[in-house]
Amino acid sequence: MANIVAIVGRPNVGKSTLFNRLVQKRQAIVDDVSGVTRDRHYGKTDWNGSDFTVIDTGGYIVGSEDTFETEIRKQVELAIDESNVILFMVDNQVGLTDMDKEVAQLLRKSQKPVLLVVNKVDSNKNLDDTYEFYNLGFEEFYTVSSMTGSGTGELLDEVVKHF
Ligand code: GDP
Ligand code: MG
Repeated sequence: MANIVAIVGRPNVGKSTLFNRLVQKRQAIVDDVSGVTRDRHYGKTDWNGSDFTVIDTGGYIVGSEDTFETEIRKQVELAIDESNVILFMVDNQVGLTDMDKEVAQLLRKSQKPVLLVVNKVDSNKNLDDTYEFYNLGFEEFYTVSSMTGSGTGELLDEVVKHF
């Protein structure tokens, strides 16, 4: 079975930035997957000899909170169905939000491995601010900067262990 990694989380946490970083050296968008909707992007990449597909979710989430609720639920459920590993991204610059807690609640039903990714840790100075994310109930999390690439290697080392 193909290795598939989905990136989920509320809007603006940096999902597309990580996706672009991961797939940029390979073919960007795989458009021949049946049932692809405009709110999901598929790309191929590899790490340490493991090839995998990355799914960027929620690209077109706009509008009211109601739209968000419906859309994010759909995206998370699709991710749980389709992927082997789920990256649940939160934003260290904004901090923990109610929407993050709702996404965590949805992901708790998953039998798939879920890795919590605290993004926008651009400098080690920011590490002190990450402790509140323990409230989401994960034993550990990965701190990354999708912008600079810092921490993404450690994250990928863990991801490929689950294939
Ligand atoms: P998405 O809605 O989750 O796909 O988020 P985007 O990837 O579109 O990013 C939202 C905003 O956060 C953009 O302005 C990005 O440039 C910014 N961003 C993403 N990753 C980082 C990061 O690691 N550090 C900082 N400082 N900004 C980031
Ligand atoms: Mg996006």
